Amino acid sequence: MICSIDTNSGFCFGVTRAINAAEEELQHGALCCLGDIVHNGMEVARLEQMGLQTIDNDDLRTLPAHTRVLLRAHGEPPATYWIAQQRGIDIIDATCPVVKKLQERIHACYEAHKNDDALPPQIVIYGQPGHAEVIGLQGQTNNTALVLESVDQIEKIDFTRPIYLFSQTTKSVEGFKALVEAIEARCSSLGKEKCAPFEYHDTICRSVANRVQHIQDFARAQDIVLFVGGKKSSNARVLYNHCLSANPNTFFISEVSEMTPELITQCRAAEHVGICGATSTPHWLMEQCKDVLEREA
Ligand code: SF4
Repeated sequence: MICSIDTNSGFCFGVTRAINAAEEELQHGALCCLGDIVHNGMEVARLEQMGLQTIDNDDLRTLPAHTRVLLRAHGEPPATYWIAQQRGIDIIDATCPVVKKLQERIHACYEAHKNDDALPPQIVIYGQPGHAEVIGLQGQTNNTALVLESVDQIEKIDFTRPIYLFSQTTKSVEGFKALVEAIEARCSSLGKEKCAPFEYHDTICRSVANRVQHIQDFARAQDIVLFVGGKKSSNARVLYNHCLSANPNTFFISEVSEMTPELITQCRAAEHVGICGATSTPHWLMEQCKDVLEREA
C-alpha cells in the first residue's frame, strides 16, 4: 500500500490567517471566538486546549467589557460589531479579506438600490441558509437578501424586480453557472417587458474553486480515497462530492476514530490510498490518518 496526502488539501489562506491570529492572541491572555473558529471539530478542540473559548451570540451579549473576542474567517453581520461596541468588547477581526471584500460589495449594491421605490431590488445570495458566512452577507442588506441553495429554488425569485446575484465564497462554480443560466432562461421566456434587469457577480473564492479539478485528478489516481473533513463544513461537502464523482471508492471521515477496522483492512489491500480534505481540514489530522494506515499495514 502506498499512502499519499494531497498536497493541495488543507487550510486555505483565510483559515490559516484566523488560526494564526488566535494562536498569537492566546499568548497574550484569555481569548473567546464567536462560533467555531473553523468547521473542524478536531482543530477547534486543539485550540480550546490552548485556552480558546468558543462562545455564541447569546454569550456575546453578556460578556464583560474588554473581553477579547476573535471574529473568524467567515465574517459577521454589522449587528455583531454593534453589540460588541455597546458592551465595550475588544474585537480581533480575523474575517478573511476575500469575505470582507464580498461583504463590502453586497453592502454597496444594497445601499445603491435600496431606495429604488418603483422597482425595489432583490439581492440574491447563492449559498447555504444559516451558514455563518451567509448570515454575515445577509446582514449587509439589513437581512433582506434572498438566499438560494440550489437552482431548484429559482421560483422564490420575483422576476418583476431587478435581480442582483452574488455567491457565498465556498459554493460550486458549476452550481452558480446553472443558477445564472436558469435565471437568464426565465428572463428571456418572460420577454424584455415583463422581466426586470438581471446582474450577477461570480464571487466564489478561487482558493476553493481551483481545488476541484486538482482533487478530482488526485482521487482518480487512487484505488481508495479517504476524505477528511468536518461534518459542519460546507466546503468539505462540496469537495467530498467532487471526489466521490471522480472515484466511487471515496470515504468521508471526520477523525481517526471513524476509521473502522473494515476500512483499514480495505485500505491495506489497496495499492494506492489517497488522503485529502477541505479548506478547513488541518494537515496534522490527515497525517494522523496516514499514520494509522501505515501503522496497521
Ligand atoms: S475559502 Fe476563500 S474566502 Fe473562504 S476563508 Fe478561505 S480564502 Fe477566505
